[in-house]
Amino acid sequence: MRTIDEQGYHFEEWLTPTQIAKDVQQVANQISADYKDKEPLFVVVLNGAFVFAADLLRALEDVRCEVTFIRVSSYYGMASTGQLEFIVPLQQVVDQRDVIIIEDIIDTGLTIHQLKAHMRAHGATSVRVATMLFKPNKLEYDDAKPEYVGREMTDEFVIGYGLDFDGFVRNLDAIYKVKE
Ligand code: 5GP
Repeated sequence: MRTIDEQGYHFEEWLTPTQIAKDVQQVANQISADYKDKEPLFVVVLNGAFVFAADLLRALEDVRCEVTFIRVSSYYGMASTGQLEFIVPLQQVVDQRDVIIIEDIIDTGLTIHQLKAHMRAHGATSVRVATMLFKPNKLEYDDAKPEYVGREMTDEFVIGYGLDFDGFVRNLDAIYKVKE
């Protein structure tokens, strides 16, 4: 098993690239089935979701779509600050669009809770969420429960496949879990 040492913490490989690819394909299949006759607008939440989004969007079948990006920040180190900051705001009109937000991971759900409200306030017809990882035990906002999930997990801190540790290790091809 591969391991990574980062900033004094020890991480062990949890999902291999092969396992990730299977999870992503399963999410893509569900979205393809649900949006075949629609023209959704995907809103990719930077920075973390860029790797998942690139794989997910290319795995879709027969979905005519647009893709845009938004950048928010709520985390420093391993803890949420509770405040969502719009670093790159929404640059595409979401009015009367079927929006699918692409996230890397849902933890408390604060980010998605606020982003959904933001999309609705700007007139989106529908807003759904696709996330690579979901920590259901930590969810604090009911409306942040994602419709499309790569994999549910317990409460540990994970890195890799777009997920960072203070800006580093996003480029790892697998997902690693911190070990105490
Ligand atoms: P939420 O708003 O749902 O509490 O947190 C969502 C954001 O927190 C994610 O987009 C991600 O940036 C960060 N986050 C939550 N859990 C983890 C984790 O286990 N590892 C990393 N690297 N980031 C996380």
